[in-house]
Amino acid sequence: MRKYRRFELYLNLNCNQKCLHCFNGRALRAAGKELGFSRLCAEMLRMRAKGFDWLSLLGGEPTIHPEIQKLVALGRKMGYRRVMTYSNGLKYADREFTAGMKKAGLTDTCLSVHGHDKRLHEAVTGVPGSFEKVLQAIENLKRRKVEITLILVLNALNKDKLKEMLRFYASKKIKRYMIFFLKYQGRLIESGSAAKKLMFRVSELGETLAEIPALAAAEKIKIQNIEHVPHCVVPENCRGLIAGNDYGGAEMVIQSGELLEVSRSHKGFLFKSACRACRYYRACAGIDPEYARVFGLGEFSPVK
Ligand code: SF4
Repeated sequence: MRKYRRFELYLNLNCNQKCLHCFNGRALRAAGKELGFSRLCAEMLRMRAKGFDWLSLLGGEPTIHPEIQKLVALGRKMGYRRVMTYSNGLKYADREFTAGMKKAGLTDTCLSVHGHDKRLHEAVTGVPGSFEKVLQAIENLKRRKVEITLILVLNALNKDKLKEMLRFYASKKIKRYMIFFLKYQGRLIESGSAAKKLMFRVSELGETLAEIPALAAAEKIKIQNIEHVPHCVVPENCRGLIAGNDYGGAEMVIQSGELLEVSRSHKGFLFKSACRACRYYRACAGIDPEYARVFGLGEFSPVK
């Protein structure tokens, strides 16, 4: 099957959740550089003409963009074979909205979840009732045959429950997953002690991660990739899943009004001088400087 060329388009900065680790921080919001409708359409057309055929819509929260259904429909009309939203799921808890998105041509949705129970999920989202809503969203999207990928965002509160989370959502017939480590940007850094409770050393997850490929095989689920972590701190049997510097296969992103090549998405990330000897040096996105400020560089050492 021909590989898709994915174009990621950021529609807005606002959101209907208040996640403690949202990467849209004060500075980005203050800059307020959202693209207008005509610029969004122009970028979609331009990238389609270059051969991109998978349109991913992100935010903020793309589903609260006032023209979301029109943008999805236009994307399909332009010839994008897949149109996906990255969403927190709140809007998809509304059956009519989900039906409208499907009718507009939505093919895929990534939903971010932070636990397999109310306590874990809402400790991050800050919205009472958001766990029930994300479960309802899953049912609504399944009913409309929209492909679902779950993004499990790991934090200090839920990291030891990764296996339980995967089993729980596998029991809801979700087949595809991405595992994200925290991004040390935006609110995570700005929220001080409130967000500090989410931070953990990436190397702490080694043993749990090592068991994930076998669990995935047993549950017949697919872990598509692991993001925001260098290869050297995950067990060997998971390194093939690290998204690295190709940003999970997407070729370009537009973020906060700026056309950004993927190779620049990790601008400012660190490498130790020893990294040059690492077999993953070329594929690795490097170490988040804000993570290094909190935990240092001691965990990272070259893989021979
Ligand atoms: S290049 Fe450096 S940070 Fe990246 S995997 Fe290798 S040792 Fe780790």
